[in-house]
Amino acid sequence: MDRLLEGLDPEQRAAVEAPRGPVCVLAGAGTGKTRTITHRIAYLVQRGHVAAGQVLAVTFTARAAGEMRTRLRALGVSGAQARTFHAAALRQLRYFWPRVVGGEQWQLIDRNKLRLIAQAANRAGLSTESDSLRDLAGEIEWAKASLITPEDYPAAAARTHRDTPAPAERVVQVYQGYEQLKNTAQLLDFDDLLLHTAAALEEHGDVAEEFRDRYRCFVVDEYQDVTPLQQRVLDAWLGARDDLTVVGDANQTIYSFAGASPRPLLDFPRRFPEATVVRLERDYRSTPQVVALANEVIKWARGRPAGSRLRLIGQRPDGPQPRFAEFDDEPAEAAAIAQRARALLDEGVPASEIAVLYRVNAQSEVYEQALAELGIPYQVRGGERFFQRAEVRQAMIALRTAAAHQPSGELPKVVREVLAGVGLTDEPPAGGAARERWESLLALVELAEELTTAVEGADLPKFIAELDMRAEAQHPPTVEGVTLASLHAAKGLEWDAVFLVGLVEGTVPIQHADGDEAAVEEERRLLYVGVTRAREHLWLSWALARAAGGRRYRRRSRFLHGLVPEDHPAARAVRREPSQRKPKPQCRVCGSQLLESRAVKLGRCASCPSDLDEELLEKLRSWRAGRARELKVPAYVVFTDATLVAI
Ligand code: ATP
Ligand code: MG
Repeated sequence: MDRLLEGLDPEQRAAVEAPRGPVCVLAGAGTGKTRTITHRIAYLVQRGHVAAGQVLAVTFTARAAGEMRTRLRALGVSGAQARTFHAAALRQLRYFWPRVVGGEQWQLIDRNKLRLIAQAANRAGLSTESDSLRDLAGEIEWAKASLITPEDYPAAAARTHRDTPAPAERVVQVYQGYEQLKNTAQLLDFDDLLLHTAAALEEHGDVAEEFRDRYRCFVVDEYQDVTPLQQRVLDAWLGARDDLTVVGDANQTIYSFAGASPRPLLDFPRRFPEATVVRLERDYRSTPQVVALANEVIKWARGRPAGSRLRLIGQRPDGPQPRFAEFDDEPAEAAAIAQRARALLDEGVPASEIAVLYRVNAQSEVYEQALAELGIPYQVRGGERFFQRAEVRQAMIALRTAAAHQPSGELPKVVREVLAGVGLTDEPPAGGAARERWESLLALVELAEELTTAVEGADLPKFIAELDMRAEAQHPPTVEGVTLASLHAAKGLEWDAVFLVGLVEGTVPIQHADGDEAAVEEERRLLYVGVTRAREHLWLSWALARAAGGRRYRRRSRFLHGLVPEDHPAARAVRREPSQRKPKPQCRVCGSQLLESRAVKLGRCASCPSDLDEELLEKLRSWRAGRARELKVPAYVVFTDATLVAI
């Protein structure tokens, strides 16, 4: 049998072998969506249905794009493009710029962005404190990603019940001011890359023709997180054609705060009635124990659109049960996790197969310290920063200088010699910042080794070109070590052992989501993304105080209700919880706590039906009480489930 079809289940194979045209894979985490699309690309290329250079595959994070390129390379495909939407747009725009705009190419805005927002906010009479500026920047990004112009903003904000960072008319002023300042300075922000690319194709027939002649086969991974702006670019790329493969999981939509929506994924079969639609349920990534927990996390999700209620079925052999742990404070949590990581390393688990995942990047510091104390190498993902690190910039300068004076010798050896000049020693330093610097430099040598095996005649200029491309696409090389990453950055990736840390109220869900049901649901999906990253070992932990010896005022995450086993010491604390609190307004349909003022007024959650008759409600209530007693869990947990079953 064809090598590319081996190791695929019948559904995956159906998607791989489908003729060119619309294909949609709707499936849960770890079911092989990314594997399916990489195999599909390789299959189409190998069978001669499309040339590798005509394929454009896009995804949402640089890491995921890099992962796709690595998988394609392993399947023997070279020349197919796998990029983030932004990196693909940037490349196209550079090429088409002389024809669609002309003159000097505008520069990408980086740290100046907040400065321009500050100027615009100042003119609009708003605070220029950094938090307010970040909120305003986020709001403008949301508007642009949602294709909302400044003029349309007030109506759109009202329609979507947004909690605007300033009165809508002020936001409009800042939005307009920022656009003006940016254009005058001839700068482009990330959203402009997409806007200009779409406009170039929509308004310039010759550009569209040339582009569509070059790229003929489109693939989108993680399609559940597409924004209206990205969809517009995709439509501009496609024109009247339909050679588009999309894969995604609506339960992993984690960017709706930034305008993303799973609707295009769920509506794909309606938009392309002739599409090959495949659903995958077998989870190949995680042990049945991890899969069971993932199913449990997502089971409680509210307002899940039809088509997203997939249950994962674990395929791997049994593994250890996920572990839950409560700590007095964060340093204690971090120290315990570093020790567990040490034990895993001693058992032979490679450092690159261990990840510590958290909700916000600020949480990384305490884990960095704890790992460094035990001499465990680590890398903080937020990979964008890799190319901005001082030692990497020095290394790039040294490599360019060397290339100008000598393009001879075996590439990895040459790179190692050049980097010795900027501090790469044979033996790693003991730990801390010196160790991190060393790890970055070593990653460059490893990349040179990788390039040598993958590309014939790899030399220093080719290596520098690869580095430039990676810097542009924000795709750093892999640094050996335990990964520290935010839940957002972990999407699409997998590790043997995963620590989900800091699972306290205010962090997961994040404070500002409180009171907004949709935002809380997005936080639940983030936890689902986190849980489904683990192949085998999974630890979930939280600390009751931030600082060592601090007051223990924090409560563990609400999402852990019902997940922690009955015999776990922390479970007793959960059962006590409801009686200690003052009664809060509850939904008259599902009984869950109402946080949003609109929902309190209505007396029910936005996602609950308004037309349940009293008789059915009464039945639900008594069912709830009975089930709660039987299961010994807080009644409202059971009631939520009852509603789902009954409706
Ligand atoms: P996510 O939603 O997290 O992005 P995914 O659906 O894209 O997950 P993949 O990353 O493609 O899943 O696959 C998960 C893991 O399962 C990978 O290690 C992959 O190699 C493996 N896998 C996928 N399909 C199969 C299969 N048919 N047989 C064996 N292993 C498989
Ligand atoms: Mg994937």
